[in-house]
This record gives sequence, structure tokens and C-alpha cells, in this order.
Amino acid sequence: MTRFIDAHVHPPVASFLEGPIAAFLDDLQAHVDEEIVAQTADELTAFYRSRDAKAVLLGWNSRTKSGLRSLGNKEISALVEHAPEVFYGFGAVDPTGGAGAVAGIHQAARLGLSGLSFHPASERIAPSDRDGRQLWETASEHGLVCLFHTGFTRLGAGVPGGGGVGLEPARPIHVDRVAAAHPGLKVILAHTGPLWLDEAIAITVHKENVHLCLSGVSPKAMSPDLLDLIRGPLLQRVHFGSDYPFGSPDSWLAEWDSLGLSDDVSRAVLVDNIEALLAR
Ligand SMILES: [Zn+2]
Repeated sequence: MTRFIDAHVHPPVASFLEGPIAAFLDDLQAHVDEEIVAQTADELTAFYRSRDAKAVLLGWNSRTKSGLRSLGNKEISALVEHAPEVFYGFGAVDPTGGAGAVAGIHQAARLGLSGLSFHPASERIAPSDRDGRQLWETASEHGLVCLFHTGFTRLGAGVPGGGGVGLEPARPIHVDRVAAAHPGLKVILAHTGPLWLDEAIAITVHKENVHLCLSGVSPKAMSPDLLDLIRGPLLQRVHFGSDYPFGSPDSWLAEWDSLGLSDDVSRAVLVDNIEALLAR
């Protein structure tokens, strides 16, 4: 039986470390106080398989504004095909890419990917920007789940000017407008929007098509209010993610277990909710 699904994984393959985050990698490693070593598809598969776990692998495409190579649909699809019983894939298109971005969404659907991953701070455009409307319509038509990184990002953290990365495009309220305009679109607010946690929670409570990913939130740091929501009204719309390799599923799960939540709540957050979302 699957022990957990890690719903937020940035596959640390060479093309990711040397691609979209290359300019930030040294500072990121200093920030998490850990060396991030490139893995092969076999090694990444073994990491999750040995834990009786599955993982959602996220692409990244902020090429237009950052000038950095993307980790695109085809690369994510190849990783999923390497071990389809272990991996789900979320592709990536650059939302500032116009018609090319729409074509990329059709391609993600053709490749059988489950969703798309966006990082508004590094893409430097808010999801609510008018230019995005066609993207969300197209993703919705294909049933592709759209994940948005929200709130504080470690990308550029601790360096002058944040490496040019502004946080404002990652405000959850920009996703609220997308979710309101496209009720058929399934949306994930990743990281619960730190800086704007209340905003992220309010949006998730308010809109049935919005789901909250707990990646980047230490279980011990969860407020009593958030835990009440997880056990109550949001029980079917909250799920676990580790942000691997920038976070560790093992240490997150050890903290989670120490909270003493019921087996039903744990099963929902660790497996059932994301499985149901990706099965639609
Ligand atoms: Zn992430």
C-alpha cells in the first residue's frame, strides 16, 4: 500500500539544477544549509520506491523573463515514463509565452501529464494577469490541475534585491481571481502562501476548486486554526508535499506523526486527497 504521495517534488536531475534554478543554486544551498546533488531518474525512483511512496514531479518554465532553460513537458513526461507506478507529472509552460504557452498546454495533455506547475515570482507575472485567461481556459478544458507556488520563495532569498525576484506576483489573491473565473479549473495553492497564509486559507475555504498543499510548512509550526481546518472543513482539500530536494519528506512526516492526528486525517492528507484530485 502507498504510504504517502509527495505532491511537491522538484526532480533534482541535472537539467533542473543546471537549468531553471542554475543562477540561484549556490544561494539556495546556503539557505537550506545542504548540498543539492544531481540524481539520475533511477536514483530518484529508488528514493520514493524504497519508502513505498509516490511523487508528483514538477516542471519549471520561466524562460522569457529569467533567460534560464526550462524543465519542460517532455522532460517531466520522460521521468514519469521511467517509473509510471511511482511518478505523476506536472509540466510547465511560460505564462508570458503567448500562443507558445497555449500550445505547450495542449502538448502537456497529449503527453498524459496530470497538471501544470507555475512559479509566479520567477515568471514575474501574476496568474490574474489578463494575458493568462486563455491558458486557464485551455488547462481547464484538458482537465489539467494548475499548481501555483504562492507566498515567500527561497529563490533569491538572502541576496541583494532577492536576485531580482519580486514576491508580489505570488500573492494567493491573484490565484483567487483565476479560480473564480474558471470554476472548472482545479487549482493547488502550494506552500500555503507564507506571508499571506490567511489569504490562502480564505480562498481555499471559499472555493471548492482550490486545494492547499502543505509543502514548505513545518507541521510543528502549524497554527491551531490551520489544524482545525485540516481536521474539519478542508479535510478533503489539503495534501502533503515536501518541496524535495529543498525539503525532506522524512523529516516532515516525522513531525506530522508527532502531532498525534487520527489515521483518517493522516490518510486523507498523505494519500487520498491528492490521489482523488489527480484521478479526475
Ligand atoms: Zn516548489
